[in-house]
Amino acid sequence: MTETLAARSTADLLDFDRRHLWHPYTSIDQPLSVYPVASAKGVRLRLMDGRELIDGMASWWSVIHGYSHPRLNEAIRDQAEQLAHVMFGGLTHEPAVELGRRLVQLTPAGLDRVFFCDSGSVAVEVAMKMAIQYWHALGKPWKNRFLTIRSGYHGDTFHAMSVCDPVAGMHSLYGGILPRQFFADRPECHFDDEWDPGDIASLAGLLEENHGQICAVILEPIVQGAGGMRFYHPEYLRQARRLCDEYRVLLIADEIATGFGRSGRLFACEHAGISPDILCLGKALTGGYMTLAAVLATAAVGHGISGADPGVFMHGPTFMANPLACRVAIASIDLLVESDWQARVKRIEGLLREGLALCRECGQVAEVRVLGAIGVVELREPVRLAAVQQAFVEHGVWVRPFGRLVYVMPPYCITDEDLQTLTSAICAVVHSEVWR
Ligand code: PMP
Repeated sequence: MTETLAARSTADLLDFDRRHLWHPYTSIDQPLSVYPVASAKGVRLRLMDGRELIDGMASWWSVIHGYSHPRLNEAIRDQAEQLAHVMFGGLTHEPAVELGRRLVQLTPAGLDRVFFCDSGSVAVEVAMKMAIQYWHALGKPWKNRFLTIRSGYHGDTFHAMSVCDPVAGMHSLYGGILPRQFFADRPECHFDDEWDPGDIASLAGLLEENHGQICAVILEPIVQGAGGMRFYHPEYLRQARRLCDEYRVLLIADEIATGFGRSGRLFACEHAGISPDILCLGKALTGGYMTLAAVLATAAVGHGISGADPGVFMHGPTFMANPLACRVAIASIDLLVESDWQARVKRIEGLLREGLALCRECGQVAEVRVLGAIGVVELREPVRLAAVQQAFVEHGVWVRPFGRLVYVMPPYCITDEDLQTLTSAICAVVHSEVWR
């Protein structure tokens, strides 16, 4: 009886979902299948039919400690009893202050003004508004365009879309109404390659010619995420910093995906030993529990914005510095820094290299690359998502490819054994008939 009810409610749920709910990047008329999740613990997602999947995605980079972590659950419960939310206009609270304190301490030097907001895309909007307001306040309002690098991804809101890759960025439809930005060629020198000084020429040339109009360079340090899952050379980032200083342009580092250890350093900027003028954080900030983002800026940016008309930074979302989100972010950061995360990420890196190496033998595979706790198998052709997704689920793993990319970034707590199951499943699916 209970089983019948459960089966019926799953069917009802899926039916309503199919008819009424929009999922990311999907059609309402031809929806792709979705798999209903009942609960999750550690690295395992439990589907409503009882099947368990080893999660390779950390819910898009965010769930670094695994699902339903006792310390994070406790933080949320405790905070809910005290103060779930209060407006941040004219009021403050301990979770915001303590989170701010940790972020100022842990992030690259000089970033000591913190603006909390709701999501990664909004953080990018905030960072871009800061750069525009900064130059406006300094009496150069014409410096209001951005320079970025191709194959980048910064979010789905309007100004964020304007600095996503213009081809791969999926936003060409909006081309006519987006602000027009400058795009440098993407770096071709891989993370481990010998540095090729020619790699920076395009960025340098665009800065030389257009710095009078450019308020900031915005980029994802070292790891270009949703725009292509590429890992570039740290020298590129050092050179970008140097050029921004030379041409008096701000540098915005979008570490929404890379922040909190994913690339093997706490922040990817550390691979190059640089500090940006503005830094965007999100995703893993709360250990994947709640949506929260933070934008950190230098005192110079903060004072610049505040020093001239209108004298204030023009942004203030309703749920700014939500106490529940700040509190779970504090718990997540404490868990991370107390753990031996560097060793864990190194170990994951080694096992991903080993486990995915077999994919190289497959004719469909163009490249396999690994950095930190990120593994990427790039195919020659785009995957047939529905069939490939089903194949992964049948292998007991959760991997969500896009375009030509099969990629994983598991929670750091994944065991060696589960990681081997994950990489074996990827190799098996990549070698299988499902591509043809
Ligand atoms: N920047 C980067 C580098 C990202 O990877 C993402 C999300 N994939 C965003 C910005 C946008 O974040 P959100 O989806 O939380 O709006």
